[in-house]
Amino acid sequence: MNLALLSEQDLTGPGSARLTGRRRDHLTTVLKATEGDTLTVGLLNGRIGTGTLLSLTSTAAELSFTLDREPPAALPLSVVLAMPRPKMLRRVLQTLAGLGVKDIWLINAYKVEKSFWQTPWLGDLPLTENLTLGLEQARDTVMPRVHIRKRFKPFVEDELPTLLRARPGLVAHPGTASPCPVHIDHPATLCIGPEGGFIPYEVDMLVSAGCQAVHLGPRILRVETAVPVLVSRLYDGASVR
Ligand code: SAH
Repeated sequence: MNLALLSEQDLTGPGSARLTGRRRDHLTTVLKATEGDTLTVGLLNGRIGTGTLLSLTSTAAELSFTLDREPPAALPLSVVLAMPRPKMLRRVLQTLAGLGVKDIWLINAYKVEKSFWQTPWLGDLPLTENLTLGLEQARDTVMPRVHIRKRFKPFVEDELPTLLRARPGLVAHPGTASPCPVHIDHPATLCIGPEGGFIPYEVDMLVSAGCQAVHLGPRILRVETAVPVLVSRLYDGASVR
């Protein structure tokens, strides 16, 4: 937690807040914070600043804070991700939030196991919790939006073309002819397959919808590795504020 993300419910007055649960525990166990210490705080979907720890009990941390700067710039990237297995889903959501992706589409694909859609991690609260962990890691405050689409074909035929008009698409698929572009300076939509990969029919449909198929070289990477590799190839840290 490199930033304590404050929501309206945490506020106890103008410029003061109370942290309980995970964030209070993190202050004591990981940060070894004591009264008078300062920490970076941010208001959900708002500005970032500095908090001072006024008191710390076994249940709550009381802070005063000021907010004086904007969160880091968001990436102009939509990520369309074939639904990963639950454990991987949590990690990938945290990673995407940490990298500054604000628009996430979880879609079905032939090689997505049906049972993956049953996971409790897709509930509103667990989704927000995992995205919060990513935001707090990266010192960001702006909550990504997650869209869940359990049917591949209607998504690709009816919704993806509209998305691609604003953000041209790439589908990461090993063995395709073009290498993934590097350091682009425009918005994009990036489609990433399931553990078993997209099947040829799905790649064809994504390409028909307007995506360009790209590869990352001969090594097949796990989804959780492919995501940060792809994102940092497309938008290196220097190109955004
Ligand atoms: N078994 C599959 C690979 C799945 S890897 C196959 O052989 O095709 C999971 C996803 O990560 C892929 O669908 C792709 O979107 C991305 N990925 C992993 N390694 C990649 C690479 N070398 N090039 C392009 N995409 C890759």
